[in-house]
Amino acid sequence: MIRKSTLKKLAKEHGTPLFVVDHEQLRRNYAEFKKYLPRVQAYYAVKANALPEIVKTLFDVGASFDVASMPEFRIVHENIKHMRDRDRQDWIWDKIIYANPIKATETLEELDPYKPLVTYDNYEEIKKIKKHAPHAGLALRIKVPNTGAMVELSSKFGAPPGEAVDLILAAEEAGLMVEGLSFHVGSQTTNFENYVQAINLAANIFKEADERGYKRMFLLDIGGGFPAPYDANVQPFRVLAKKINAELTRLFPREIQILAEPGRFLVATACTLVAKVIGKADRDGKRCYYINDGVYHTFSGVIFDHCKYRLKALKEGPTRICAVFGPTCDALDTVSLAEELPDLDLDDLVYSKNIGAYSHASSTYFNGFPPAQVVHVNQT
Ligand SMILES: *Cc1c(COP(=O)(O)O)cnc(C)c1O
Repeated sequence: MIRKSTLKKLAKEHGTPLFVVDHEQLRRNYAEFKKYLPRVQAYYAVKANALPEIVKTLFDVGASFDVASMPEFRIVHENIKHMRDRDRQDWIWDKIIYANPIKATETLEELDPYKPLVTYDNYEEIKKIKKHAPHAGLALRIKVPNTGAMVELSSKFGAPPGEAVDLILAAEEAGLMVEGLSFHVGSQTTNFENYVQAINLAANIFKEADERGYKRMFLLDIGGGFPAPYDANVQPFRVLAKKINAELTRLFPREIQILAEPGRFLVATACTLVAKVIGKADRDGKRCYYINDGVYHTFSGVIFDHCKYRLKALKEGPTRICAVFGPTCDALDTVSLAEELPDLDLDDLVYSKNIGAYSHASSTYFNGFPPAQVVHVNQT
């Protein structure tokens, strides 16, 4: 937990807007994940926050990585290269999964020499992989219920479970090797039954594949979706982990490798944004503050991630309901229409905690305002 006095000091030293990454918290989040899901190897989903320093810290504590584009692949590859010597030839795919079910042919060609592990969910992709990345191993992405997730992720990707084994056999027929299944229950899933249902669906597909003569499945990737504790309504991670462990133990023998792709859970609570008040007006009886970061920048999650961030002031005092807007000229650039803030003056600092996931990663340069500067604390 970064103290207010530290935020103030950092803002003074570096200016604002400032995106503060706490590496101690990253390590704590990873440790919590491993403590409660000891059987599961965590592949950090780089799209949640692709800062190389974050990749490095998570790698150092033992994480693997889920990438979905060549730039993400390169960020990870560059930062974990140094372990090449101490590992086998195919070291890299214990450390990376390319988890985008749709891959451009150029991407497949670039990946092929690395003998990648990639996901797929349709017949056209089998043809493409056969032609452009014949050395890839495959995981079939299946469609699973996303009920109650903050961000739905099953309308775009995922084979219907009823077609799964046909798709596995088709890949085998094409001379490719299907190693297992993957799914995503939806991001910020607070309905833990999604995981229970998805693991059960996957177990049924393993069984059907076996009955139809396909005996080479050895991995299950339970995806991301593990919720960050944004508010008190989110049940503790250990409660979810207990349900997941029970299903895995019941349905998947020890020799099946279990992977997960946590993004938000590992980074959300590790970052804090500090911004300053650059304008102030009373409109229709409501106090409005304009700050130097907004939805085109670190608060992009307000739009893309359906996320609400609480804003607080460094200054104390009696609060009232205010609107907070970003610096661009677009009315969409509204951080919040109802924040409890004390009376603030120009240059006063505000901050938002738990803003590490899907925030800085989707910052733009819209209207000429650049993304927030990044500062790292508690790096080793
Ligand atoms: C976005 C994504 C993740 C990460 O999801 P979180 O909800 O942030 O944990 C994992 N896997 C895939 C395939 C994704 O697209």
